Amino acid sequence: RGTPRFKMAVRSGALSVAPILTNLQKDCATPLPVLRHVADAMEADMLAGLAVDGGSDLKMILSYVDSLPSGNEKGLFYALDLGGTNFRVLRVQLGGKEERVIATEFEQVSIPQDLMFGTSEKLFDFIASGLAEFALKEGGKFHLPPGRLREIGFTFSFPVKQTSIDSGILIKWTKGFAVSGTAGRDVVACLNEAMKRQGVNMRVSALVNDAVGTLAGARYWDNDIMVAVILGTGTNACYVERLDAIPKLQGQISSNGKTIINTEWGAFSTGLPLTVYDREMDDASINPGEQIFEKTISGMYLGEIVRRVLLKMAKDGDLFGSSFPEKLATPFVLSTPDICAMQQDNSSDLQAVGSILYDVAGVEANLRARKIVVEVCDTIVKRGGRLAGAGIVGILQKMEEDSKGLIFGKRTVVAMDGGLYENYPQYRGYLQDAVTELLGSDISKNVVIEHSKDGSGIGAALLAAANSKYEHDF
Ligand code: BGC
Ligand code: MG
Repeated sequence: RGTPRFKMAVRSGALSVAPILTNLQKDCATPLPVLRHVADAMEADMLAGLAVDGGSDLKMILSYVDSLPSGNEKGLFYALDLGGTNFRVLRVQLGGKEERVIATEFEQVSIPQDLMFGTSEKLFDFIASGLAEFALKEGGKFHLPPGRLREIGFTFSFPVKQTSIDSGILIKWTKGFAVSGTAGRDVVACLNEAMKRQGVNMRVSALVNDAVGTLAGARYWDNDIMVAVILGTGTNACYVERLDAIPKLQGQISSNGKTIINTEWGAFSTGLPLTVYDREMDDASINPGEQIFEKTISGMYLGEIVRRVLLKMAKDGDLFGSSFPEKLATPFVLSTPDICAMQQDNSSDLQAVGSILYDVAGVEANLRARKIVVEVCDTIVKRGGRLAGAGIVGILQKMEEDSKGLIFGKRTVVAMDGGLYENYPQYRGYLQDAVTELLGSDISKNVVIEHSKDGSGIGAALLAAANSKYEHDF
């Protein structure tokens, strides 16, 4: 037809969008057998990753956390959280068993785009200077005994090969970060060097992944927490594992103790129902072939997958009549919060859907188009939520297998955090549905999936307390 691409053009002979939608729904379907296959594959990949380093997509990283918060932690601790979109600093005054959390304070800033593509020094200088500024404002209910160094729990939400509780090497960036010079380095050393440049003297007592921090933070309040899952910009899960069930340790740690394993399940890829849109998005990403589970279920990507489907429907089909909205061709213009907002529109004329499409894509969508758009959002979000649920069941299955009855036979809690889980009711619902379908109603009564808000910050501070170089006697 010679129709120029990416133009507001009048085209003739466009196809109906119906077959595009039908194919999408077919490719994204997650009936019970698909979910079961994914849960089983997750379990198998966990075992393979525990057997040897590099044994599977799942890195099954040792956290070096050897004791979970008890409630007895006391004192003033800081936490620093570098995640997907935000950077947070926090201080908490812990009062021990009776008083628990006496006070907390935090500040949050979004990470400037240019820092995500700059140098390691720039990024860590930004973090260290934010930390320094925040520490200066200490006072009120927060007390540090004279002569003591401030201690920090550093939540670093990227795949890190931990070398001890307070050191670890960045394996690679995820979630759209492309900072040069950090991969292969100890991120605590990077932070220490930046603190030196900024003239701050603080001690990093614990380096933790956000999933691990969430587990620790939630465990402070509830002993039945066994798993933590992050569903935000990116995704991850961790769980409590027995040291003697980790063959790759080769008896290095001969104890019957427990630890937390960071699965890095974002890299999982076995048996996922993927579409041409997923493959094209992956090809165009800064980490092609990596983080496939993450790209299918997490917040950074759901809106982008929807955009790619809508683009196809507008280009090859008649979604927006004869016009083709050029803006829709821009990667990531449609965000997951946008598709979430569209799915909350209960009005009969889908007014909010119309205005979001207008703002985002500059397109006037009639009611028929708005309905189709909502269906596309629902298809992608349903697949994501249900696959996340299957992943959780895979982890629980693995734990149950090792400890017959200790998981499914009693109350077991999965602590959830991340903006996607927190803010997207349909996603949450689909996730829970999948868990219930897979476990059956009897077992799923024992499995509680609950939101643990901002647990990772407090969790990191608690782990800093547990690994403090001082006596915990103040
Ligand atoms: C990272 C994980 C992190 C997760 C959630 C993923 O991209 O690889 O380390 O826990 O995002 O923030
Ligand atoms: Mg986070």
